[in-house]
Amino acid sequence: MSEPLFSADPKAGYLAHADEIRAAIERVLASGHYILGPEVEAFEREFADYHGSGQVVSVANGTEAIELALRAVGVAAGDSVATVANTVTATVSAIEQIGARPFFVEIDADTMLMSATALAAVLAAQGGRIKAVVPVHLYGQPAAMPAIVEVAHRHGAKVVEDCAQSHGAVVAGRKAGTWGDVAAYSFYPTKNLGALGDGGAVFTRDATAAEKVRMLRQYGWRQRYVSEIPGRNSRLDEVQAAVLRVKLKYLDQENSVRRAKAARYLSKLATAPLRLPVVASGAEPVWHQFTVRTPQREALRGSLAERGIHCGVLYPVPVHHQPAYASYSVPLPETERACAEVLCLPVHPAVADADVDRVCEEILRWSKS
Ligand SMILES: *Cc1c(COP(=O)(O)O)cnc(C)c1O
Repeated sequence: MSEPLFSADPKAGYLAHADEIRAAIERVLASGHYILGPEVEAFEREFADYHGSGQVVSVANGTEAIELALRAVGVAAGDSVATVANTVTATVSAIEQIGARPFFVEIDADTMLMSATALAAVLAAQGGRIKAVVPVHLYGQPAAMPAIVEVAHRHGAKVVEDCAQSHGAVVAGRKAGTWGDVAAYSFYPTKNLGALGDGGAVFTRDATAAEKVRMLRQYGWRQRYVSEIPGRNSRLDEVQAAVLRVKLKYLDQENSVRRAKAARYLSKLATAPLRLPVVASGAEPVWHQFTVRTPQREALRGSLAERGIHCGVLYPVPVHHQPAYASYSVPLPETERACAEVLCLPVHPAVADADVDRVCEEILRWSKS
């Protein structure tokens, strides 16, 4: 029996760089700086440079990154924010934390990402009431940003990109995260750039928005002990920043390993009775997940699990069908279909070519049984 295989393996992400990570943590332990010190400062600069230019403000997690990004572009209680329901609940809880109201936009049937056409219809129907739009680059696939930004700005709505699954993805020649007014990242351990605990960041080229997030993340301070605006504690600690600095060095290399695995799946599964991921023209995904579709999802998932291949389902229940959000429910047939059919195959950097081959063989065998 082969080793069990999982579609997420944060321990492998640590072991791949264990010596460097341990040295980085030792450096922090010896430094006496544990919160908002030199490691956080260096990580923020390095991750900003990764985007070409702009500013990064690190925060405690991805959910707060979205919330503070929305606040930074002016979203307040009572405002409406358009997003998708094919996402993790976090995207929507960030909106709700502000007291704003989520408006769900249908996804594109092929990419399973926000449909720019559906967004245009929602924005037109709401007549300027939507304050911000949150496209989600789900599975590491960048959403149709040129069209989304154009239609959002035309209707006076700001764009906050949810980049929690898309570190390094590119669309129309530009990195995801650099299209909108502000972008939000998560460094949850399983993400393409993952810490060894919680972490998040906001990226923006808008100096005013960056300053607002910097104040919001620490008690509304611009200057120590002077709370100019109501704020909170949403800080990244030095240990996580030091770990992220190590991981960031390998992000592009690891993303290209993910790309090679995805290409291998696409070729080996070409004849399988599954819907394979569709990459939109101009999109260069980073394959946070390799997500296939079948109406027999549960049968395939069970059959693979029996053979030690444990696949994730991102996500089994769309947000508008979650008990907490039932009051916002609108019919979203493409979203509902996607959630019923998706299955995420192991594609992280520790997955070997032989593992991909094994998964493909098991899928093909299952399809013939
Ligand atoms: C992980 C994730 C988040 C939330 O990030 P946390 O760090 O867990 O708060 C938000 N949106 C998406 C799409 C995610 O995958």
